Amino acid sequence: MKISPVKDVKRTQKLYRCSWCYEIIEKGGPCKTWFTYGENTTARMHLECFDAMKKADIYDDELPPAGTFKRGCSVE
Ligand SMILES: [Zn+2]
Repeated sequence: MKISPVKDVKRTQKLYRCSWCYEIIEKGGPCKTWFTYGENTTARMHLECFDAMKKADIYDDELPPAGTFKRGCSVE
């Protein structure tokens, strides 16, 4: 899976759902975001969820459905 460079967003412009835990990312809150080519989807994650994903080492693989993992945790 080909993805764009990960961008640090300091303040989101609106509410989003986290691509990892599916909890809400508050408007004005920080998040990590990137674009997945092929799927043409934009992923957004809490900072702690992004860290959990990196630790789980599935960074550029296909992500499991949002909500598979708990927030900030890479254990199902
Ligand atoms: Zn999250």
